Amino acid sequence: MPTCPPASSLAALTEVTGTVPQARSIIGVDLGGTKLAVALVDDTLGVIAKTVGGSATESAEACLDNLYRRLDEAVGEYGPVDAIGVGTASMINFRAGRIVLSTNLPLRDVPLRDLLHERYGVPVVVDNDANVACLAEFRYGAGIGTTEMVMLTLGTGIGGGIITNGHLYRGASGAAAELGHMVIEADGPRCQGACPNYGCLEVYASGEAMGRLARDEARAMPESTLGQALASGEEVDGPLLSRLALDGDPGAIAVLHDVGRKLGIGIANIVNIFNPELVVIGGGAAQAADILLDPARQVVAERALYPERDEVRIVPAHHGQDAGVLGAAALAIIELFPDQGAPRR
Ligand SMILES: [Zn+2]
Repeated sequence: MPTCPPASSLAALTEVTGTVPQARSIIGVDLGGTKLAVALVDDTLGVIAKTVGGSATESAEACLDNLYRRLDEAVGEYGPVDAIGVGTASMINFRAGRIVLSTNLPLRDVPLRDLLHERYGVPVVVDNDANVACLAEFRYGAGIGTTEMVMLTLGTGIGGGIITNGHLYRGASGAAAELGHMVIEADGPRCQGACPNYGCLEVYASGEAMGRLARDEARAMPESTLGQALASGEEVDGPLLSRLALDGDPGAIAVLHDVGRKLGIGIANIVNIFNPELVVIGGGAAQAADILLDPARQVVAERALYPERDEVRIVPAHHGQDAGVLGAAALAIIELFPDQGAPRR
């Protein structure tokens, strides 16, 4: 994984790494509901510098001012850049470069691509965070060498990305690949947020779902580690569940096993529909890796059709917390400089 050296300038970076940065420099922006990350990368997605701060969510104006301030600082410190890529937790009209709606940010109908282009005078590309994470894995991570790939990002919800014939599939208006809203229980619980559906995959296998299921287990088994954590006032959520499972706690492993089997039902549908070579599972809620993925692989082996069930590999994402900024920069490289960007690990 590319790392972020403590460089304060390109010259300093050259001294630190002994390498000369590539000819182009690209800014990647991960504009999320709580976090705003900005990274300067070269055109092989090597990180030159990165900063992470909070998002401003009081108003659209405050949110954009915060973004401008951080970009002004990056451009001021590192000089002119060649392009800006933005990934944001929002519904996007990709062709128009416009944020249509955002659940966790106060942004609605914002022409972000044009606003940034006018301010910085460089090409800008904007897409949703799940698509950019998928691109980062496809071109620079777990998906190198594939042409048919699907990614699920397990976070508060579940984001999806679909690569078919080597290209991101966006649908008619850029809203495709909402794979977290695939129904896996027709009469299941109501879905989260603005989704009017019931029994979506997101209800069973997102970070929110993991926290809810962990608390159910804690209440049902008060003597368990989860039960004791709840009784002591500790926050019982997805991250705690993953940590306990990785430490070998049997109660936490059992909950993640059930989550993994639900995830597997969703992946079996994906495998039958898209026949991918690779399904990549990323996001903060996927930290338990194989504890979660082994039950999912088992369900896919049991339920998906032959031969695609035997052809697909289900793997953890290569990029961790940097997936958003790296993916945003990857989006700019892929869309604006399609002949650039040799794969790297
Ligand atoms: Zn849903």
